[in-house]
Amino acid sequence: MSSDLSTFENQKRKLYLYVIPIVLLALLFGLPRWNEFNFLDRTILASYLILFISSYFFILKRIFFRYVELTIFISVSIVHLLLTYWSLHVESAQSQHYSISDAAVWTPMIYIYIFITFYGIYGIVLSIVVWSITTAIILSSLSTIQVDMINSLINYQLAMFVYIVILFFARKSLDASVRTSMLEQMAFKDMLTGIENRRAVHQLFEKLNSESKTYSIIFFDIDYFKKVNDQYGHSVGDSVLIEITKVINSGLNKNDFFARWGGEEFVVITKKVTIENTLKLAENLKLLVNQHQFKVVGKLTASFGIAESQPGQLAELVLEQADQALYSAKANGRNKIMMFGEQGEKKKEIPS
Ligand code: GH3
Ligand code: MG
Ligand code: MG
Repeated sequence: MSSDLSTFENQKRKLYLYVIPIVLLALLFGLPRWNEFNFLDRTILASYLILFISSYFFILKRIFFRYVELTIFISVSIVHLLLTYWSLHVESAQSQHYSISDAAVWTPMIYIYIFITFYGIYGIVLSIVVWSITTAIILSSLSTIQVDMINSLINYQLAMFVYIVILFFARKSLDASVRTSMLEQMAFKDMLTGIENRRAVHQLFEKLNSESKTYSIIFFDIDYFKKVNDQYGHSVGDSVLIEITKVINSGLNKNDFFARWGGEEFVVITKKVTIENTLKLAENLKLLVNQHQFKVVGKLTASFGIAESQPGQLAELVLEQADQALYSAKANGRNKIMMFGEQGEKKKEIPS
């Protein structure tokens, strides 16, 4: 579950790392006009430069990420409200002229930023708060500004409101799709070990049954696992299951499929070109288990059954054959690899 959330956080981080330099560039374009600026403009420009340069480095170094986000939100909102107030109440009173062009370009960014930064209800509440204060400032300035400006200011505020509504629904559907993909991922993962689960095996079977490629199934089961539970308790048993998945994973290629079938039974599906290669893989996996010193319990063994797919054969049947071979490995003393033979019952034993 956390993986998707952290993916979203990572995407946000990347977005900031792309956008902040552009914001800085826009601010730097203001520098040549420094001498024409009043005290407020200069203070804002200097503070923004410091804020965005330091934010960039904090985000790059992955420190104080949430604090940086909140600081940017608070600073940008205050500056936006201050500038709106200043332009409408001070500048327009002096010059009888007011232009919303600069603000019109950048204000939507504030609302976009709010919806990127804040989850759920916070996004809409904070946007409405910023929008309402802006509206109040505009309304309180109606007596001091030109009549033709009133119309464009009302239009501007209504457009901002439309932005907020669109952003609210965009964020909502983004959250819903993140949640859906999170649930989808969870549905195919084993909760304890984090590897694929039985449902994922069936999903892969559907794919394998629709293809004509050959593959092999290695079915393995930890020997005398019940004793581990009885002797050391269920939680030690659980940690053995987690540990063995790591051990097995270290012997697999990234194209090999590895799932927990249930309990202490696992399935590896590999598209090795020859059965000999699959056998080598199983031998290596068995060796890795044999050599591993498990925490608390020490040494353990596992039994392996192998079956190779035949043209037109259903994957479910191949798995059943691997299971039969595993059963023979158990019956033959455990810690063994057995291969399902070409003619039904015939099985080839690989000594331990
Ligand atoms: P064998 O060598 O014949 O495989 O003997 P075994 O004791 O390993 O076999 P059996 O299948 O009889 O026992 C499996 C045990 O695995 C029984 C069950 O309590 C335990 N088990 C199943 N799922 C879990 C789990 O998630 N955690 C823990 N700790 N134990 C589990
Ligand atoms: Mg067992
Ligand atoms: Mg078992």
